[in-house]
Amino acid sequence: MHRSKRAVIVGSTLLILTAVAGLASGWFVPTQTAVTQLAPGVFFRKTATEPAFIGCNQGWVIFKDFVLVIDANFPNQAEEVIQLIRKTTDKPIRYVFDTHYHGDHADGNQKFSAIGATPVASEDSRSQFDTKGLAGFEKSKKTNPAVYGGLEYQKPVLYFPRKLVIDDGTQRVELLHFGHAHTPGDAVAWLPKQGLLFTGDACVNGAFNYTGDGNTASWIRVLSEMQKLPVKRVCPGHGEMGDADVIAKQKRYFVELREAVQRLIDKGRTLDAIKRQIEIPSFLEWTGVDVKTRAENIEFVYSELTGGGKPK
Ligand SMILES: [Zn+2]
Repeated sequence: MHRSKRAVIVGSTLLILTAVAGLASGWFVPTQTAVTQLAPGVFFRKTATEPAFIGCNQGWVIFKDFVLVIDANFPNQAEEVIQLIRKTTDKPIRYVFDTHYHGDHADGNQKFSAIGATPVASEDSRSQFDTKGLAGFEKSKKTNPAVYGGLEYQKPVLYFPRKLVIDDGTQRVELLHFGHAHTPGDAVAWLPKQGLLFTGDACVNGAFNYTGDGNTASWIRVLSEMQKLPVKRVCPGHGEMGDADVIAKQKRYFVELREAVQRLIDKGRTLDAIKRQIEIPSFLEWTGVDVKTRAENIEFVYSELTGGGKPK
């Protein structure tokens, strides 16, 4: 998870302007990171998950006088995205929005606060930053000094309960917390004018989605809330961009995982048997991966359905 292979995005020789159907333009460094302008002043950075996991996807929105960044990423990737942002604007980065507390989304906060930005997150994520987030960061400082050495943990300093709107007349971004999904404090960034939704890990596109901090019943409800928005494009926390169908696929995974595990529980199967026997064809079709390989998610849902699945 914390292995990092720095994306090399230095100099113009690696910047290849590529026309993408339906999109304005993209700069691509194959297999590592790709930046696409989705609308005037709105950018999506896709990072690689294969062969090396380098971090989360990110976004940024250029307002009249400042920039909002969506997800801090790991510290080294925070440095990378700041360089990328500087290729698009000289305006100060004022806010970095952490969709949730996980290190691959928030451990780079200090890199942004050092240049004057304020880390923002939902109020329901505060306790995770204070506990697991801090503990994970301290652990990474020991195990990955090349990326974390010398840094101090920077928690968000601006929290919002359900919704925070940033609107200067040119851009409007709504930060929305719908409830417990991938973590208790997940929030998304919704750009209503452009129909763009940056979901963090509340919705990923095919990449492994960790359930250990989740609540799959609530997560399905959160995804249903997202589906009420007139979404044109989903920028997921990991994986490729897509249309609103990505939300439907993420939801279907949890609906069908819960149904399939429950069916096998009802037949009296043990957890080990369930892990061997479970089939979810739609998941294979979506991700190219057999659902059996996501064993920890099967264990988590089994635990939830048999009464032991309280979020850690
Ligand atoms: Zn996460």
